[in-house]
Amino acid sequence: MQKALEVVDGGSMTDPHRSLLIRGGRIVDPANAFDDVADLLIEEGKVTGIGRSLSAPGAPVLDASGLLVAPGFIDSHVHLREPGFEHKEDIASATSAAAAGGICAVVAMPNTEPPPDSAGALEEFYQRAAGAVTRVYTVGCVTRGRAGVELAPLAELASCGAVAFSDDGDPVESADLMMGALELARAAGRPVFPHEEVREITAGGCMHEGAVSARLGVRGMPAAGEEEMIARDIELVRQTGAALHIAHISTAGAVDLVRQAKTAGLPVSCEVLTHHFVLADEAVAIHGSAAKMSPPLRAPSDVEAMLAGLADATIDTIATDHAPHTAQEKALPLAEAPFGIVGLETGIGLTFTYLVEPRVLDLPAAVARWTWEPARLLGLPGGRLSPGDPGDVTVIDMESKWRVDPGEFRSKSTNTPFAGYELRGRAVATVVGGRVVYRTDA
Ligand SMILES: [Zn+2]
Repeated sequence: MQKALEVVDGGSMTDPHRSLLIRGGRIVDPANAFDDVADLLIEEGKVTGIGRSLSAPGAPVLDASGLLVAPGFIDSHVHLREPGFEHKEDIASATSAAAAGGICAVVAMPNTEPPPDSAGALEEFYQRAAGAVTRVYTVGCVTRGRAGVELAPLAELASCGAVAFSDDGDPVESADLMMGALELARAAGRPVFPHEEVREITAGGCMHEGAVSARLGVRGMPAAGEEEMIARDIELVRQTGAALHIAHISTAGAVDLVRQAKTAGLPVSCEVLTHHFVLADEAVAIHGSAAKMSPPLRAPSDVEAMLAGLADATIDTIATDHAPHTAQEKALPLAEAPFGIVGLETGIGLTFTYLVEPRVLDLPAAVARWTWEPARLLGLPGGRLSPGDPGDVTVIDMESKWRVDPGEFRSKSTNTPFAGYELRGRAVATVVGGRVVYRTDA
């Protein structure tokens, strides 16, 4: 049973002054090492105080007793599909799904048409996103057209709001171009956020190369395809001193490479996706193309390595790589179906069920990987509840048990291997700038 979430007095939930008093929840704010039962006050869209028995005449009050009150969750790896692929998803549907999943801010990846490789494309993107219910940021391309031939104007993209640089969906195969990108990114004060894959090694693969791909008789994508590119880029960081935030690491060897780079004091950080700490490659035998993504689900020992990497803080951020595709596209045979699964509406449930409940991470560590860590590494506002910070809050019922029903998703697409999973932990209210953009029915 989900706890009813009531507005106990005052104003409407969409208060024009964007004020809200969230009363009596367990506030976990990792950046400030705060973990206690308290009230949180948001006024004019910004955090103004945390304390006991706060009052705010006229502001709506949200009773959060028994609930977790966290800084707004940030999904730092999302494919919005707009512009260019609106039959899969658009900014409105994706951010509606994000709000329902407890996500207050999304970082868009660049494999759109056109891609964000020029000032004009970025300006148009931010105009499109202006009416979204959550905050929306985008990375900018590393190369023009994501074609891997010449560098995009990274300094200009940064000045137009690119929070990082990536050709995600594709790697930057040329070491010369990656070197140039790292130098420009360092000058712009923004990280490179690469998809690491050597296509010569992975070409034609549709899942992890291992016992399961051999049994199914399909072409695999060896772990080396990811690890060799990560090793190259860590070496380029050693030469340039630029920040590298590696997208979606998925192999034990990748975790080891990042661990060594951190030990050496290099500015290297990394992300794990929710499915990579839950599922192994056997899921492809069960779910077929619904479990096809890139990087692929790996061996059980790799899943263990993700948990170990989270536990020892080698892995900095958790994201979903929300990658919508239509049912027709995913109905193609395994070798032909597109890579990717949706994630915005299952990210919190998977995190609490597979990391918090089994105590892989304590609560502050789990919250930090969705909030302060992505905010800090990508230079985003929020992720923290200090006075003056954005009034972005995710309220979570950690006891709520629920079953994943893709028919209830707000996303336009339902491609997930998690249909029918029983999860524990769900967002019951999502607050962006003091405005309640989602809440479960009381
Ligand atoms: Zn990728």
